[in-house]
Amino acid sequence: MIAPETPFKAKIIDVKQETSEIKTFTVQFLDKKQQKNFFFAPGKFMMLSVFGFGEMPISISSSPYKTDSIAFTVANVGSISNALHQMRKGQEIGLRGPYGNGFPLQKFRGKNLIFVAGGCGFAPLRSSVYSFQEKKQEFKDAFVFFGCRSPKEMLFKTDLKQWEREEKMHVLVTVDEPTPDWKGYTGVVTKLFNKIDLPVEDSVCLLCGPQVMLHFSLIGLKKLGFRDKQLFASLERLMHCGLGYCAHCNIGQKYVCRDGPVFSGEELAKMPLRED
Ligand SMILES: Cc1cc2nc3c(=O)[nH]c(=O)nc-3n(C[C@H](O)[C@H](O)[C@H](O)COP(=O)(O)OP(=O)(O)OC[C@H]3O[C@@H](n4cnc5c(N)ncnc54)[C@H](O)[C@@H]3O)c2cc1C
Repeated sequence: MIAPETPFKAKIIDVKQETSEIKTFTVQFLDKKQQKNFFFAPGKFMMLSVFGFGEMPISISSSPYKTDSIAFTVANVGSISNALHQMRKGQEIGLRGPYGNGFPLQKFRGKNLIFVAGGCGFAPLRSSVYSFQEKKQEFKDAFVFFGCRSPKEMLFKTDLKQWEREEKMHVLVTVDEPTPDWKGYTGVVTKLFNKIDLPVEDSVCLLCGPQVMLHFSLIGLKKLGFRDKQLFASLERLMHCGLGYCAHCNIGQKYVCRDGPVFSGEELAKMPLRED
């Protein structure tokens, strides 16, 4: 029997520079059968290892409907992510998972999906947006609110342009530090909430981003009338195992790896979360 902690080898088949600090790595398991049988729910993550450096949890940023390869969008923030950023097409990494619960999209059928993303937090949300695109007829509209540091630090530019043109999709982007040629919105992502008539009834909000952004976004959405049961946020915490053994990611009684990383507003209200 193979232990659940055993990583499987995967080959990097594409590397895309998204911003100065963020790259998207597209990979395939070396074992073709394993790749063929691979499936995941949007919002799930995998433990990605760079051999000789270590393992880190990274969300899947590709479409659950295109599983001939898997994409990870990774910020260069420390030793493992930096080692990954030095890697090129053709090199091998380790993967285990997918882990976590993901966003319960099947429960959201018939509703508007409101995505609120901050910086690299867009990565796990992108796979949910792809799911919406794939199954548009099952949902009402999608609203994508994205906040990033500057126009240069904007992730997934090609996707954003495509979504702006699509029926049933409303895309609003804001930057903290505009450049002279920036014609869009400026300021934090919560400033976007009143730029469009947002339907509160029959809607759910899916959020991911830095803790402070999540904190103020949840407050902003509640002020607009959203109730806890309409809110779903994906959290990030340091974790080593991804399996609920190491207890590095627990928040109160909950483990981010095992019970999350997606928590409903009702769960979040009972969790001792930091606001910074
Ligand atoms: C469920 C989950 C999904 C994730 N998905 C992604 C993703 O899609 N893309 C991505 O770029 N990152 C993601 N992360 C964060 C990523 O796992 C960390 O940035 C990872 O620790 C980087 O490893 P490192 O060795 O490069 O940096 P480290 O040396 O571990 O840390 C670098 C810096 O980041 C801080 N840090 C590390 N991990 C976290 C964390 N989880 N939360 C807050 N601060 C942290 C450290 O304190 C340090 O300041 C995710 C984390 C979780 C828990």
